[in-house]
Amino acid sequence: MAYSYDTENIFAKILRGEIPNDTVLETEHCLAFRDIAPQTPDHILVIPRGAYVNFDHFVTEASDAEILDFNRTVARVCKEAGVSPDTGNGYRVITNAGPDSMQEVPHLHFHILAGRNMGALLVKPA
Ligand code: AMP
Repeated sequence: MAYSYDTENIFAKILRGEIPNDTVLETEHCLAFRDIAPQTPDHILVIPRGAYVNFDHFVTEASDAEILDFNRTVARVCKEAGVSPDTGNGYRVITNAGPDSMQEVPHLHFHILAGRNMGALLVKPA
């Protein structure tokens, strides 16, 4: 499958420094920053610096170094935020991909959600 990447998406603009962000952590291949509309007390997004639309695109085309760095960055952000289950109260990681997920920003991002009890993963529609 050929993935089409929109270079004008908001996270591409953040990566190019065209709009500000509340950075939590930077690595060679990733940026972690606070979500502008947090849904939990801690709501941090981790994105690769590379131009990947979603998780499928990333695991198909990213290098092993990018994939390793991304995973380690997610874990490091959780640890440094004090929410890893070994020392804190835990977290939830979510990524949206494709229309059913209602992905808004077409650049891969993992949401790290923490800081309160989040209840069940999904609520059934009424
Ligand atoms: P998704 O629906 O998974 O694509 O999530 C996109 C997320 O990006 C939402 O939680 C937004 O609040 C967040 N977001 C959008 N614009 C910005 C921004 N400029 N800085 C930080 N987070 C943003």
